[in-house]
Amino acid sequence: MSEKTKGQTMKEELFYKKKNAFELKSAEELNEAKEYAKKYVEWLDKSKTEREAVNASIELLEKEGYKEYKLGDKINAGDKLYLNNRGKSLFAIKVGSENIENGVRICAAHIDSPRLDLKQHPLFENDGFAYFKTHYYGGIRKYQWATIPLAIHGVVTKANGENVDVRIGDEAGDPVFCITDLLPHLAKDQNTRPLGQAFTGEGLNVVIGTSPFIEEDGKVTPADEKIKLNVMIMLNEKYGITESDFMSAELCIVPAQNAVDVGMDRWLIGSYGHDDRVCAYPALTALFDAKDSSHTCIAALADKEETGSDGVTGMQCCLLFDIIDELAKNLGGNTNVVRMNSKCLSADVSACYDPNYPEVSEKRNSAVLHCGLGLAKYTGSGGKGGTSDASAELVGFVRKIFDDAGVIWQTAELGKVDMGGGGTVAKYIANRNVDTVDIGVPVLSMHAPFELISKADLFEAHRAFAAFCK
Ligand code: MN
Ligand code: MN
Repeated sequence: MSEKTKGQTMKEELFYKKKNAFELKSAEELNEAKEYAKKYVEWLDKSKTEREAVNASIELLEKEGYKEYKLGDKINAGDKLYLNNRGKSLFAIKVGSENIENGVRICAAHIDSPRLDLKQHPLFENDGFAYFKTHYYGGIRKYQWATIPLAIHGVVTKANGENVDVRIGDEAGDPVFCITDLLPHLAKDQNTRPLGQAFTGEGLNVVIGTSPFIEEDGKVTPADEKIKLNVMIMLNEKYGITESDFMSAELCIVPAQNAVDVGMDRWLIGSYGHDDRVCAYPALTALFDAKDSSHTCIAALADKEETGSDGVTGMQCCLLFDIIDELAKNLGGNTNVVRMNSKCLSADVSACYDPNYPEVSEKRNSAVLHCGLGLAKYTGSGGKGGTSDASAELVGFVRKIFDDAGVIWQTAELGKVDMGGGGTVAKYIANRNVDTVDIGVPVLSMHAPFELISKADLFEAHRAFAAFCK
């Protein structure tokens, strides 16, 4: 081997070189990532809606000794608490021993994902079919939701106030549901329409049943709307609901398939709802990992991110800051000082560079698969419109934490300048005077019914959030 020249040595010292997990990790560490992914998948399959994610997360929290907390309860140093907000968003709080005025460390992720919600009068019959009418939730590409097996998840509040959970389509032996598409033979007109217009929102009707109600004498009922009636009778038998109960229901159409390994080497996980449960799960496990840390840490798992974070369960609601107020009051601190000194990772997925669509990305500044978490200093669109833009100092602060802990991370910009854009919950937290930076797992086919992520990147999310909380 010849000696390196000065230029070669200087280049190694001065240039940044992005490396992936396979170059940086030992076989043992890579195996650890694969093991971690198994536990994520177990939780993910139980968490197809925000309500289900709250329940599955509380199960984990209680196993770790976390107790339910309600606003106004007494808080002491060392407490491990969770606040279940209306069954749809969740705050896990590990109260540290240090002065609360040093601030809290927050990992904020979201547990809602794009899907099709049932309308309040969903059930109708047309030409031999009973359908559910839907109104899509979040940013979907409508064509992706036809001809795939679908499940129904949600809750119905009956006239007497009783709540019934609905979940059909996931268990072995369950029926699934479907939106039909045209056969190519007759798609001549549809094929000429732009992709975004090939399907309409009102066209996303889900097939629910196709057979009429049969009377006790074995004959088809003489009643009108025989197929709708048959479906309604079956729903009534299973859940005790009537058609008017749909008016006070939240029923969601989600993909029926559970998470699976993708690729011969099994390094990818394909699933519905990685955005943003792939950051929500590590936010929780990081808290468990950092149990001996003196910091007060919060994992905030929000709802409604996909529709703009509004409402009582979205991150624009004041609840996170009410919790910080309560922490300050109980632990003897000034809440304004607590927020000023707090730091937040807005833990939301980033767009992964996709070699099949290089034209939308600027590769140098995109998150690349297996290269760890993507940190986005800014988000927004156009001239960064709508971003909170983390400061150089804040990026420097988290960079040092990650580098000291050997976390693999990279920077991530959503796509080429002026190609589109997007936002996260970051600005709603930063607007309340909490230093906040976006960081998350890179995702391929984001918002599709079947998104892809890397197990290596998932594990780095856990390691990064844990280092931040420690
Ligand atoms: Mn997201
Ligand atoms: Mn999203």
